[in-house]
This record gives sequence, C-alpha cells and structure tokens, in this order.
Amino acid sequence: MERQSPHPTGGVDYPRTMQEFDEWFSSEDACTSYLAKLRWPDGFVCPSCGVAKGWMTARGQMRCAACQRQTSVMAGTLFEGTRKPLRLWFQAAWYVTSQKFGGNALGLQRVLGFGSYQTAWTWLHKMRNAMVRPGRERLSGSVEVDETYVGGKEEGVSGRFTEKKAVVAVAVEVHEPKGFGRVRLRQVPDVSSASLVGFVQEVVTPGSSILTDGWKSYDSLPQHGYHREKIVLSASGDPAHVALPGVHRVASLLKRWLLGTHQGAVSNKHLAYYLDEFTFRFNRRASHARGLLFYRLLQQAVQADPLRYRQIVDRKDHPLGPAG
Ligand SMILES: [Zn+2]
Repeated sequence: MERQSPHPTGGVDYPRTMQEFDEWFSSEDACTSYLAKLRWPDGFVCPSCGVAKGWMTARGQMRCAACQRQTSVMAGTLFEGTRKPLRLWFQAAWYVTSQKFGGNALGLQRVLGFGSYQTAWTWLHKMRNAMVRPGRERLSGSVEVDETYVGGKEEGVSGRFTEKKAVVAVAVEVHEPKGFGRVRLRQVPDVSSASLVGFVQEVVTPGSSILTDGWKSYDSLPQHGYHREKIVLSASGDPAHVALPGVHRVASLLKRWLLGTHQGAVSNKHLAYYLDEFTFRFNRRASHARGLLFYRLLQQAVQADPLRYRQIVDRKDHPLGPAG
C-alpha cells in the first residue's frame, strides 16, 4: 500500500529546523500523536473490527470506539518493544537525517548520551532497515549497470586483511541529455550471470535499456526482455573517458562515504544496511529540506517490521534475505 503523501510541507508535515523540532516534540504524547498520524494518514481504523473511529488514550494507545480494543501505535513498527522514550528515537532520526552524510554509531552515542556503543549501533541499523521501502518500484528507461568492489575490512596490528572485498552491483538511471535518476545497489556473491542478471531483474523493469561494459555475464540480458547496449571503452585509453559515468560517480561516492563517515569500518556482513542508507540518501539528494528526510524515515519506520538485534547481527533471518 502506498502511504506516502505526495507533497509533504515543511512546517506542517515535518519540522524545518532544530528549533521547530524541539517545539513539536517536547513530550512523549506529541511524538506518539505524530507517529499515529503517519501510520493512519486517513484516520485510525481498528485492526480488529475495521471501524474507523477511535481516540488516543492517556497511555498512548488508540482505543476503538466500537469494540473498545486498544491498539499500540508502535506495535508492528520499528519502535515496537523499545524501552527508551520515543522522543529519544525522534532525536536519533533527526540526527541521522540532518547530517549531510548521515551519522555513525559513535556520533549518535555522543549526541544521545548513550552509555553503550552497541545500542547506538543497533539503532542506526534499525533506521537503515526502515530506509528501504518495501515493494518499491523498479528503475526504468536507460539504466547503467556495473559492479564495483568495496570494503575489505582491515583488522589487527599486523594489517592483515580479514575479509575479501565485497562485490556490489550498481544500477543508475541515465537521463537525457544529462543527469542521473535513481540508484539501486546490492551486494552480490560474485560476477556470474546468475548474480548480475538476477540483480537487473530485481531492480529494473523489463523493456528498459541496460548499458553495460563488455563483460560476458550480461550477454543473456536480451533473453530476459532487456535491450542491452554494450559500451566499449575507447581504444585510445584516454583516462578522461569514462564508459559508464553514472555508475562511476555512484561507486566513487559510495566508497568515499564508507571511508569518510564510517572510517572504512564496515564489514561485508553488514554492508547491505549501509547500501540501504546510501541509496536512501542518494535518491533524495535533490531534497534540500533535511526535515523531509526525517519525515520519510519515520513514515517508513511505522511501516517497517520490528527488527530485532539478533536479526541484525545474523542477516540470514532478515526479511531481505542473506547479505550474500
Ligand atoms: Zn474495533
């Protein structure tokens, strides 16, 4: 179900400044009411009897006017079962969305005064999980596709690499005459046809034009209903010539972000979460209102299934499947 309001307005739907944020969310009740509005944009409907009438109790629950059943605003959302004030979550969401490059766990720990680094880390991952909208639409038109290699976390004084670099498949919409649209990124196990064409099928609408380099794994794209345009590097070897400028740009931004904001400390096991956050940010790069990012994040958070710490650590239980 599509619940995104097409044109949320600053100062009405979301706070525009830190000062507005503080004024709007000065109490737990204010935060709960805000979430209730995001969760039921057309008004509360009782999940038990379907009657569209109810009110909020003093304990932050919605009570059905017909069957009297109480529904927790937070049940079934990212915030389910939290023992921390909602207000703290809102501050965390504001922190993550108001930083130009997003926050890292150490920064969040400092801002919220958490005793534990692990709590901050878990919160960030829960929020990243909410950044991926379930059932989001696929890319279309002209789409560049290529692979890039990231990570290879280094550990210990010996400087020994404990992990190999991860393969990340990248898809970028190309606009005419210039400019790029949305991106999709996915960690893939290898550069085989199964992995790469499988990625394209997941993220790009059939009938689209796929621009790739000459790698043979992409040869079967036409059999799956895609037009393939093979872009071959100029024989002159001109270093200024970039065959797939969109992918090239996205890949270098991704690497810079992983090294800068996250100091290269992202392990392959958790890379998928960072790719989600990067995608969320990149696809909303044109919205200069940071408050709008905050709004979108919370809007998606009330639709997300609660994600428990164990699932984050061991992604094989994750609804999106293994990280690869
Ligand atoms: Zn009811």
